[in-house]
Amino acid sequence: MRSISIFGATGSIGEQTVDLLERAGGAEAFRVVALTGGRNVARLAEMARTLRAEVAVCAEPAGLAELRDRLAGSGVAVAAGPAAIAEAADRPADWVMSAIVGAAGLLPGFRALRHGATLALANKESLVTAGPLLMAEAQRRNACILPVDSEHSAIFQALVGEDIGAVERIILTASGGALRDWPLDALARATVKEALAHPNWAMGQRITIDSASMFNKALEVIETREFFGVAPDQVEVIIHPESLIHSMVGFRDGAIMAHMGAPDMRHSIGYALNWPDRAELPVARLDLAKVATLTFRAPDLDRYPALRLAREVMARRGLAGAAFNAAKEVALDHFLAGGIGFMQMAGVVEATLLALDRDLGGDKSVMDLEDVLAMDHLARIRADEIARQRAGER
Ligand code: NAD
Ligand code: MG
Repeated sequence: MRSISIFGATGSIGEQTVDLLERAGGAEAFRVVALTGGRNVARLAEMARTLRAEVAVCAEPAGLAELRDRLAGSGVAVAAGPAAIAEAADRPADWVMSAIVGAAGLLPGFRALRHGATLALANKESLVTAGPLLMAEAQRRNACILPVDSEHSAIFQALVGEDIGAVERIILTASGGALRDWPLDALARATVKEALAHPNWAMGQRITIDSASMFNKALEVIETREFFGVAPDQVEVIIHPESLIHSMVGFRDGAIMAHMGAPDMRHSIGYALNWPDRAELPVARLDLAKVATLTFRAPDLDRYPALRLAREVMARRGLAGAAFNAAKEVALDHFLAGGIGFMQMAGVVEATLLALDRDLGGDKSVMDLEDVLAMDHLARIRADEIARQRAGER
């Protein structure tokens, strides 16, 4: 029986993973090792009971008493706090879903690789902050990382049986997010609610806003570079409002392989779950005659400064990814709290990168996890100062 852990089980990706496990037989078909969640302790406890998990861990220590009460008599062990989440990743499991949002997902995924797990990686922040370390760890431990981000799953599938040396370009598709048709000068006034109205995908709150600002695509450009080992200028972004092509790979003979399907994350999650096989999945089938047209347009860098910043981060390498991601998370917190405007997020991130420039160094290819976590911490402090200052000037 395959053993499975899910980090971030109560989130959007986590719930869809649980849905697939339940459809495939749940506790009868899988041995569920660890499930972790955040504030939604009730849902975490419910999942842990249904899937008969060995351990359930909530991120907040304050949730422990409730988790214990809810799981009393179930035989599920309970724990709380970031250290307990990382320890849960030390419990061997064959297949581990990394679906915590933000840099908090880095450590558990890293530790799961240590015991050679197959890591289904939704947490793109892991590759953005510590790509070289994560890839090296996977190789050292003979572990396998499977991308769950829809674009990267699409690219991965387009590359089956291909030589990566024959790849000329990778074309990431982007929906353009909730505000893609707004006039540029109106974006500064966009509210959280407006930025959350994603046209195609139902996702967690943070990634939905990152889609509107294209910070999500910026992370994905870096994720592509790190995961597939291609040069930065081989990674392109195109706006494709229908979100039916999930990404494309262009080869040196001019062929482009595109991956198509309904916008449903259970495809990419299910592909990683069943890899290298393909199994029946509960996703809608495309009716191409009904779809009729697919459209594309180049992204406007004035509208999406995050895409320009991603290029700078890739040129800097080293710890720039950790700084970029942390600054982006803090800028997003300030936007969510109403402190700064939608278009100010990129300004805060850019100013943070500049302020940290001397700490970032040039090509610091040898770094360890402690360096990454220290840069994450430092960048959060700088970004917070800058965001507060800008909120005051508003
Ligand atoms: P979400 O906000 O819906 O869920 C996040 C999960 O992480 C929840 O279980 C939450 O409780 C937990 N969590 C949050 N903060 C935590 C912390 N500090 N410590 C421990 N646990 C914490 O997020 P999501 O949309 O499911 O996204 C998860 C990851 O997958 C992100 O990295 C995101 O970029 C990526 N991703 C998501 C989608 C999608 O469709 N939702 C698509 C592609 C990639
Ligand atoms: Mg994606």
